[in-house]
Amino acid sequence: MTAEVVSVGTELLLGQIVDTHAPTMARILADCGISCTRRQTVGDNMERLVESLREALARADIVVTIGGLGPTADDITRDAIAATLGDELTPDSKMEEKLRKFFALRKLVWSDSLLRQADKPASARFVDNPNGTAPGLICEKGGKVVVALPGPKGEFNPMAAGPVREFLSRLQGGQVIHSRILRICGMGESHVEQVIRDLMDSENPTIAPYAHPSEVHLRLTARAPSIEAADLLIEPVHRQIKERLGEAVFGIDETTLEEAVIDLLRRQSATVSVAESMTGGGLGERLTSVEGASAAFVGGAITYQVDAKGVLLKVREETLRQFGPVSKETASEMARSIREKLGTTYGVSVTGNAGPSSDVGRKPVGLVYVGVADEAGCEVDEHQFRGQREDIRRRATQVALVALRKKLLSGQASRHPLP
Ligand code: ATP
Repeated sequence: MTAEVVSVGTELLLGQIVDTHAPTMARILADCGISCTRRQTVGDNMERLVESLREALARADIVVTIGGLGPTADDITRDAIAATLGDELTPDSKMEEKLRKFFALRKLVWSDSLLRQADKPASARFVDNPNGTAPGLICEKGGKVVVALPGPKGEFNPMAAGPVREFLSRLQGGQVIHSRILRICGMGESHVEQVIRDLMDSENPTIAPYAHPSEVHLRLTARAPSIEAADLLIEPVHRQIKERLGEAVFGIDETTLEEAVIDLLRRQSATVSVAESMTGGGLGERLTSVEGASAAFVGGAITYQVDAKGVLLKVREETLRQFGPVSKETASEMARSIREKLGTTYGVSVTGNAGPSSDVGRKPVGLVYVGVADEAGCEVDEHQFRGQREDIRRRATQVALVALRKKLLSGQASRHPLP
């Protein structure tokens, strides 16, 4: 069973609002075992909307529209659905009564234009809208289904997640599409693909890789009669991937890298401090975003200008003069110094040139050094990133977390199983 989602509204086309409802709807369809095969956005124009609905209905079993159900002249979805299905649009007296009561109860000003919302295409039934006046619609005709939902978030969300979801899952006979995401760091997308290539032929679950900055996500998606049954299909494939990729898999679903790192630190009763330059506190921000981070994250220093590295972290003048602030030597002194000052198990440093100008110590834009110090000394990695300033800064915090995690795992006993 396939579905298409049609988002209606000129403000969406103009980029004045972002379409957040269509992805929500796509997830609900997937949860109900229905493949969302296309999504489109159409302005408040009758001719184009009818054309879009006709085309969508010719391709898919179900079409879900979002928005344009209100009382104003530009709210044309109801009329367009009736025209597409060849349905007569007639006022529904019960809905009219309900609307009048809604307004009287709240002492709102009544206008006859509101009555448009009580119009019903012949093949439709209303979907109750407890938080607004425009009811939704479910039309079933000629083996096809059209579902119409209002745009305001407080109305759309409960209707989509409630009665519409219920209707859709019944339609599909109780099948679900359920996904688990495996999060991987320290390996590129092509390397991951190479290692698991033969597993990627699997059809249920399917395996789809997605590349993110310095992270790869593998989405395992299964179709089954229930979420529990889908999990049972996913589990052995998850285990096989884990066996091949090992510790590169740092978490599942919503687990962030910073959560995984704080978790490891806590399991090892270890602490960390940070000395940052070009990331301006971004690394500390990511670590402290994790609930319970205070058990492992002690503090840090932002030493942005060259002199601050000497004043706060006692990076030697000679080091700064000879090698520059963006250097392996400076990164090493920064990490060792913050570790000593704050008495932590690990000290992590980040120094680099985020650009756009390339005049930081005459080092190229995107050159980043990450140092991880422990009692044995300090290891420094060199990275060369491309991209905009914000991308480079974000990637720098990412590789710093990857480096710290690697250090934590290298000293970890196997009694702490990872996800
Ligand atoms: P109303 O009764 O408010 O007219 P409606 O069903 O006609 O409801 P629209 O007029 O199309 O809905 O949109 C109302 C508001 O809902 C928009 O201004 C926007 O804030 C929000 N909205 C509409 N569609 C979407 C969407 N696809 N994603 C996110 N928000 C949306």
